[in-house]
Amino acid sequence: AKSHGRSRLQFWEPGMQAPYSERMQIEADLRRALARNEFVLFYQPQVDTVSGEVRGFEALLRWWHPQRGLLTPADFIPVAEESGVIVPIGDWVLREASAQLAEWRKADLPAMRLSVNISARQLESPDFVDSVMRAVQVYALDGRQLELEITESLLMRDFEANAIKLGRLSAAGIRLAIDDFGTGYSSFKYLSRFPIHTLKIDQSFVQDLDREENLSIVNAMIAMGRGMNLTVIAEGVETESQLARLQQMQCHEIQGHYCSPPLSGHAATVMLGQHGPG
Ligand code: C2E
Ligand code: CA
Ligand code: CA
Ligand code: CA
Repeated sequence: AKSHGRSRLQFWEPGMQAPYSERMQIEADLRRALARNEFVLFYQPQVDTVSGEVRGFEALLRWWHPQRGLLTPADFIPVAEESGVIVPIGDWVLREASAQLAEWRKADLPAMRLSVNISARQLESPDFVDSVMRAVQVYALDGRQLELEITESLLMRDFEANAIKLGRLSAAGIRLAIDDFGTGYSSFKYLSRFPIHTLKIDQSFVQDLDREENLSIVNAMIAMGRGMNLTVIAEGVETESQLARLQQMQCHEIQGHYCSPPLSGHAATVMLGQHGPG
């Protein structure tokens, strides 16, 4: 546990069942955080490996906790998921990301792809498709600017239902990215039946590219993605030599600390003005 002082959340660790009363408390904290507007999105650029231009951003959730400061998802997403509060939080993320896209458009900045992470409970919620569509409509977005990041395991969990939901969203132009690719259980046969646009190679492969097996695996993943006409993004790129290898293997884009950490909305806007396409 992190030494964050005398806060309730420090007792809770992923994989550990907090006592019922404590979980109720955390759930109440999360709902209050939503009402008080304490959540914020950070944006991490996704950069073209050939031109160096920013092609898109991934929205990453943070919680400005009044006592504990800036919390990352590992601190609160598991409880949010378990309690179901992730559904209204996820809805907020969709609206906030859409509002950011609308703001960039108003400022005449280049049109960007913005990806948001979708959780299990959110995808399974009967209101999911409508809540995505609502966000797009309220901000009059081009659906193609919005990308949903979903892990392969989650997609496979309820294949038929998910195929229908994502098919409806795809018809509105909304894109689908497979997150953490290579780490979950997936079936290529079923994967090919989803309207996928982007493959995100998990950072565990990227960070260990010096190992011959990993290099072969990443090479195969990139070749497959390119063969399926998908945009291939390598996650967690931290060094120049990782970038060099990925360039050699013709990976389209990279995301990671080598280019930039996740940025505040303001910093992302500044970057977009300087390094966007065109
Ligand atoms: P993810 O979707 O795999 O996101 C990538 C994570 O890698 C982010 O952690 C990001 O800050 C981190 N990262 C970026 N570049 C590097 C790098 O060069 N090296 C390393 N070691 N890490 C890097 P973060 O922001 O803490 O998010 C963790 C996870 O929380 C995400 O993993 C995603 O699964 C989840 N998450 C984030 N935002 C949301 C959200 O809005 N909704 C939901 N449901 N989940 C979210
Ligand atoms: Ca992600
Ligand atoms: Ca990921
Ligand atoms: Ca991950």
